[in-house]
Amino acid sequence: MIRNALIFAGWLIDGTGKPALKNVIIKIEKGAVVKIVKSDSESKIHFQKTAKGYADFSDYTVLPALVDSHVHLSMSGTPDLKVRQHQLEADFEEIKPVIDAHIYNHMSYGIVAVRDGGDHLGHAMRYRNQCFDFQKMPLHMKVAGKAWKRQGRYGKLIGRSPQKGETLAEAIQKELLELYPIRPDHIKIVNSGINSLKKFGKQTLPQFSLEEMKEAVKVAQDHDLPVMVHANGYEPVKIAVESGCRSVEHGFFIGEDNFKRMADYGTCWVPTACTMKAYANTLQPESPEACAARKYLEHQLNQMALAKKLGVQMAVGTDAGSMGVNHGHAIIEELRLFMEAGFSLEQALSCSSKNGAHLLGMENSEHFSVSNSVSFFAVKGSPGHFFENLEKKLIITDLGVTC
Ligand SMILES: [Zn+2]
Repeated sequence: MIRNALIFAGWLIDGTGKPALKNVIIKIEKGAVVKIVKSDSESKIHFQKTAKGYADFSDYTVLPALVDSHVHLSMSGTPDLKVRQHQLEADFEEIKPVIDAHIYNHMSYGIVAVRDGGDHLGHAMRYRNQCFDFQKMPLHMKVAGKAWKRQGRYGKLIGRSPQKGETLAEAIQKELLELYPIRPDHIKIVNSGINSLKKFGKQTLPQFSLEEMKEAVKVAQDHDLPVMVHANGYEPVKIAVESGCRSVEHGFFIGEDNFKRMADYGTCWVPTACTMKAYANTLQPESPEACAARKYLEHQLNQMALAKKLGVQMAVGTDAGSMGVNHGHAIIEELRLFMEAGFSLEQALSCSSKNGAHLLGMENSEHFSVSNSVSFFAVKGSPGHFFENLEKKLIITDLGVTC
């Protein structure tokens, strides 16, 4: 984190969604941005002469660090089914270096925080508890531990079900008390199935009733924990939103009524659109499954445009660790898809940094404050070359200039 600095930026994207500014000087004092002023070559020379901690990023676009709001750190995005199966069964010692590598990958694309959506062995949470060294790898990890699902329904790869005779709320409460004082950063509940590649648009029934979900969200809130809900289809999303969850994940076929509800309630949507694109790319291009995956993607992009129009808060999450979705790199795919859905580059980046930080509850964190962000990073070139140069990793993540 930068404490004190003067940074000359060729371009600044400030994280609010407003258009990039050209040639600015950013003044940072005691870890907070105190001034952003337009510059010209004369004032640049003046600053060079007078400032001790002056940093010249005139060939760079400076912007707030990114947040990936939906990942699975214990799984890699490889399409190799043998590796995937092995990772699902591997013990913690074997998965530790895998998570190390994923964290490194995120950081190398300017990502400073991730929100994990769960794994059935709880490796990501154990990693956070036992191995995570923020000094060595300064990435903020928010973890769910094991997700919750209904017995016999989708989700066994990322979680488990309440015991027989136990409600969802009782199961969550019991586990939180057992884990105390260690606990997850949020609760993840699976409330639908996944997209059917055999029958485009087929919706699955909710896994939990509104009553069950409300009780579960109440328990989580009593422990000060937000709830993220995997939900596709109108009914599962409606229940999730009305239960008071913090975010809807994936949300294929949410529908306009639900968007209106989400805008009213302030529920965040994490569309993970790149999953369908990545999945299609792992299949034979003309196969019916690949065609279906591409149709889901197209449908999702239309939904994203509608959600934007209706004022739904949206965050950028990739579902990294899913088939074909690689940790770190996938943020480029998802940001590009936000733009295909009608967001400007600046608006898409704001969904990642500002909305992501808000969703992760990090706005007031000492290390990450978007409105006054000092977790800046710089990507070579103008915003027009943003993706190309981020892809080449022509970035500087530590602008650490002190004076
Ligand atoms: Zn996921």
